[in-house]
Amino acid sequence: MPSHSPRQHLDMVIVGAGFAGLYMIHRARQAGLSVMCFEAGSGVGGTWYWNRYPGARVDIECVEYSYSFSKELEQEWDWSERYASQPEIERYANYVADRFELRSDIVHSTRVTSTVFDASQRHWVIRTDQGHEVTADFCIMATGLISAPIEPSFEGLEDFTGEQYLTSRWPAQKPNFENRRVAVIGTGSSGIQVISEVAEEAGQLYVLQRTPAYTIPLQNRPVDPEQAAKMKAQYAELRERQRNSFSGFTLVHSDLSPPPTLSALEVSDEARRAEYENRWASGGLSPYYAFTDSLLNMESNQTLAEFAREKIRARIDDPVIAEKLCPQYPILTRRLSPETRYLEAFNRSNVELVDLLEAPIHRFTKQGLVVGDTELPLDAVIFATGFDVMTGAMDRIDIRGRDDLTLKARWAEGLTSHLGMMTEGFPNFFWINGPHSPFYNPILLAEYQCDFICDLITDLKADNIEVIEPLPEAEAQYVQLTNDIGNNTLYPQSENYYMGDNIEGKPRNTLFWFGGFPFYRKQCRLARADWTGFRVE
Ligand code: NAP
Repeated sequence: MPSHSPRQHLDMVIVGAGFAGLYMIHRARQAGLSVMCFEAGSGVGGTWYWNRYPGARVDIECVEYSYSFSKELEQEWDWSERYASQPEIERYANYVADRFELRSDIVHSTRVTSTVFDASQRHWVIRTDQGHEVTADFCIMATGLISAPIEPSFEGLEDFTGEQYLTSRWPAQKPNFENRRVAVIGTGSSGIQVISEVAEEAGQLYVLQRTPAYTIPLQNRPVDPEQAAKMKAQYAELRERQRNSFSGFTLVHSDLSPPPTLSALEVSDEARRAEYENRWASGGLSPYYAFTDSLLNMESNQTLAEFAREKIRARIDDPVIAEKLCPQYPILTRRLSPETRYLEAFNRSNVELVDLLEAPIHRFTKQGLVVGDTELPLDAVIFATGFDVMTGAMDRIDIRGRDDLTLKARWAEGLTSHLGMMTEGFPNFFWINGPHSPFYNPILLAEYQCDFICDLITDLKADNIEVIEPLPEAEAQYVQLTNDIGNNTLYPQSENYYMGDNIEGKPRNTLFWFGGFPFYRKQCRLARADWTGFRVE
């Protein structure tokens, strides 16, 4: 049971104890605020608590995908691999929770069901599925950007007697797939990671692919202690580089350095190819930084796409299967998927690629799955079918601002926000890593946005202001800028979750700020320089 009594009033309620929520607790306390954090999971870590499927691993180097707010923490923590696996990242989240004594303000296994603004009292009323009702001056959604799973909905699934797994809700008890017939539905980053592992264990694995993904070897390796020590000595400089970079990762363990300065069309074929070869050898997300216009110009994009397809073909024994694994949409407009041994799985005799573009999933039966006219006999199915990205986690909570307007109803007409953190009609309500936030290293972004929000609250208190919300004009300007930037890129040129395309009925919107972090930070600075973009009371 919670240590706080019902109807307790707090300065701040935080929803979610992932990396954003944990830092927000710490930061809010530093600002002198009383705080309570509700978390649906029984542990901390958010994404890294829920996504415990075999093969789950980060694809930004850990020295960069980690908190920067504490110099001591940076020095104390040792990563074992260049790209850590889920258990290690979850351990890190737990270490942080203990190290900064955050647990006393976290209420676990508790889902916030509604948060309603009471205009007469100028506070939020927050209710949970465990019967809590608390009030708070500020309500912070740290609910994650890719955290609301799409529930599998397939005809006949209720009849299927085999085991069912969702990558993002993986059980603590490890399933055994040895000698068993398994299907994986979905070939995004989660599917790719789980397929690579299960292929080596299952008796028979069917990979059900609708849209192939562009892949690149992750090039993971154990951390060399000497290199780690060197890195620790240069942490301040690394963080500075990250903050000034477009996406918050700087390919720290490679000889390649962002930012790019040339168009892919400005260099000779040989030079371009050499650059791409270097990126593939470096691995991870390094192709994002190959040339200035990979995501802006279709001709440039196609040079990279064709190179990536060549790399796929070279690793697949059967040319027919190789073609099925080659994507045709503009590369990088859907998330690039770094992998380890993924493509080689299709050279194994126990792995079969089922191309859903040739014949779609018809229905589940008691013993399996019918694709086209063929029934695949199954002992287990793994759904790696994705998330309702950015808006999903908040849409699932009954959030009501002024005049009983729900956030879901507001966003049903089209996405709107100011600075990717707040919206008009929802006073003293902020989200972190949510709609219209930059496509950027999520841990560093959380730190920036939490600092921004806490500094704002400190200023408000100093000026005896109780309530703040953006003005419609300021919000409209930010939305326009976000959409203009998005429309200037190639993201709208494929169907992808960045535009909301993976959810039926979701309005097509640029869900992310694609203008890079430095330009985003500038918008935040300008907005706070005076209070003209906000209504305050
Ligand atoms: P995702 O990229 O959205 O992939 C979902 C997959 O499921 C797609 O291949 C999709 O096919 C397929 N799918 C969905 N509904 C289907 C249906 N009814 N029938 C057949 N196929 C269906 O989701 P994700 O793989 O979970 O990855 C989400 C994001 O999380 C990643 O892009 C990345 O940002 C993050 N992530 C990162 C890592 C990492 O750091 N290494 C690992 C995992 C996830 P269609 O595309 O045709 O719809």
